[in-house]
Amino acid sequence: MTHEEFCALASEYGFKRVFFLAPEKYELGDNPHHLVADVKAEFPFTSSIAALVFPYSPFPEGERIPPYYLASNQAYHGMKALLKKLNELGIRAEKAEIPIRPALLKANIGAALRTGFLSIAPFGTRIVLMSIAVSELEPLQYEFNGKTYCAGCRKCIEACPAGAISESGVDFALCHRAFMETAAHPDHIRDCQSTYIGCEVCQRCCTMNAKLALSEPSSEVREAFDTERLIMGDASKARALVGKNMTSNGKLTAEAIAFAARDGEFKELILEQKNSQFEAVRDAVRYAKERFNRS
Ligand code: SF4
Ligand code: SF4
Repeated sequence: MTHEEFCALASEYGFKRVFFLAPEKYELGDNPHHLVADVKAEFPFTSSIAALVFPYSPFPEGERIPPYYLASNQAYHGMKALLKKLNELGIRAEKAEIPIRPALLKANIGAALRTGFLSIAPFGTRIVLMSIAVSELEPLQYEFNGKTYCAGCRKCIEACPAGAISESGVDFALCHRAFMETAAHPDHIRDCQSTYIGCEVCQRCCTMNAKLALSEPSSEVREAFDTERLIMGDASKARALVGKNMTSNGKLTAEAIAFAARDGEFKELILEQKNSQFEAVRDAVRYAKERFNRS
């Protein structure tokens, strides 16, 4: 199989760009969760790491359904199907999760932005990145394009609801994403959280994404994320679409309650959840009551 044939096959599974990186030993930093430090030691057959780029379309401003998590789940299943196909074709391939952003930057691919996101043209930051170890396909060399990014732009600094971005980068301790590991969020996050399971503000305003076409959530996605449905605790469809890892312990219901309370909607329905089995939901009801009492 040639590199071009590999790319054409990967494209069928949604991976519109593939970069072939030399396998190296990687520094895993403070968060080594699931990451592979030495790909050659773990998968001795490895000729290269195929870095797979799964682009997705952002949703319009104000949309609370998170396109990244929908795409991430699709990319995960696409990667599994691609691995199966490659192995059927006689190419050995295994999921090998490396610290992919530093690995791509070291190979002269993409642009590191002030927000901490990596931008890969023409997709901007609206990408899901995955990595697999593959046999037979040698690494390729990529040339540095010499461009600098972010200089002269302050859009994300001005837009960030948490004041987490400065000239020197992101203070992750302030960023909304730092609060998404758990189902319950502090009230100051609930007050301004922009999307389910996170925040999209700095990607929405980013110059690198300015030319991307928007798309609307499908009717299936809309139905799964229906606010009333989520408040009533029926998050199973939404969880199936965005993956279960980030949505356990009533998280989507708690977030739906906080959004509805901010909108002044579904008061009676929200109060019915006061005895939920999930602490995050009970706390969201407490937050909602306080909001309703203030208004
Ligand atoms: S909005 Fe501007 S400063 Fe912020 S990451 Fe994007 S290009 Fe860089
Ligand atoms: S994700 Fe949201 S909170 Fe975090 S840096 Fe970007 S705009 Fe700020």
